[in-house]
Amino acid sequence: MSTALRPNLLGLSPVKLTALLEGMGEKPFRARQLMRWIHRRGVLDFGAMTDIGKSFRERLTLETTLAPPELVSRYDAEDGCVKWIIRAASGSSVEMVYIPEGGRGTLCVSSQAGCILDCSFCATGKQGFDSNLTAAEIIGQVWLARRELGSFENGGGPPVTNVVFMGMGEPLLNFDNVMDAVDLMLDDHAYGLSKRRVTISTAGVIPGLERMRGRTDVALAISLHAANDELRDELVPLNRKYPIAMLLEATRAYMADLGEHRVPLIEYTLIRGINDHRRHARELAALLADFPCKINLIPFNEFSEVSYRRPSASSIGKFRKILQDAGHLVTVRTTRADEIAAACGQLTGSVHDQTQRRERFLRRLDGEASLDERPAGLIHSARDDSRQQAESQGTG
Ligand code: SAH
Repeated sequence: MSTALRPNLLGLSPVKLTALLEGMGEKPFRARQLMRWIHRRGVLDFGAMTDIGKSFRERLTLETTLAPPELVSRYDAEDGCVKWIIRAASGSSVEMVYIPEGGRGTLCVSSQAGCILDCSFCATGKQGFDSNLTAAEIIGQVWLARRELGSFENGGGPPVTNVVFMGMGEPLLNFDNVMDAVDLMLDDHAYGLSKRRVTISTAGVIPGLERMRGRTDVALAISLHAANDELRDELVPLNRKYPIAMLLEATRAYMADLGEHRVPLIEYTLIRGINDHRRHARELAALLADFPCKINLIPFNEFSEVSYRRPSASSIGKFRKILQDAGHLVTVRTTRADEIAAACGQLTGSVHDQTQRRERFLRRLDGEASLDERPAGLIHSARDDSRQQAESQGTG
């Protein structure tokens, strides 16, 4: 069988791997054995999987593959953050970032090469959209990070304790592949992460939120950024289809199913003169008055393709205080690892746009400063400024 036609076992969810092996006449425990070799020990060579019979290993070698995505480059920051660029099968490159903090290690993963949502302040959207990542390319980011960090079982390297879908792409627009990867993140025979330490961050894809109900129980982050529809329509064009009231309702429904006093994280990127005024803070406080949540303020990370600016530290502080005085739990995300240009939500990679999004964008700017340069030095890694927020964000 040609390699392209063989199933890549790396990205098969526990259920799919079990089904495939059953189809080959094997018992379910074989799937657990294989997952432990692949995801816990980092072994890709079937020949080395010594507790699996030789003839079956030979069959696996002939009929399947075990292929992580190609690693293009790695950048290490002095504070321990690491950014990797990987190449997707489509040819586009995407980024992932490791953020160590205390005993935690958060991996910020990408779910798509590019993004179609075109949020006005997001560097990824400016690249256009190329393709969904496969489940192997998504879980492959966790696999590669563990290999690179030397943190497979008995490796001793810094651990990946948390995963946040805050890299490139909208995870709920690549639902099935994201969920297959999430299943592996949570499975005890694979990565064994707690459901509270895997966070899906969404701009508000309502059908995806509805599908999450009953399908998963991981942590949820909502990219709100504005407390009224008029402003949110501008910042997050998806809002024209799924306005704020609808989004909060779908979020509430998902959280209600989880019980256990779990609350969503509300992400609010603060942009100077756009959504950072005191009246915006009061409006946000009122909107969320009866909505249990934690609020994470993200000072805007500047990049050359847009003229938005980050607010001053003092206006961020005032914004935060208004929310806190209204009884909200608020944290501010701080940036680090500037020198490697790495931030969740700020990753650009190099996307082969299939939607002409970028061309339209360039036309609109009509000959302004050259946009061909990759925006460098403007991508910052996200860090939580308190343990409490880290937990709410899934970095706890
Ligand atoms: N599509 C998903 C996940 C990717 S973005 C989502 O929208 O949630 C992860 C977070 O970073 C989102 O809250 C996003 O709005 C935010 N973000 C994107 N660009 C940013 C920028 N330039 N500065 C600060 N935050 C940004």
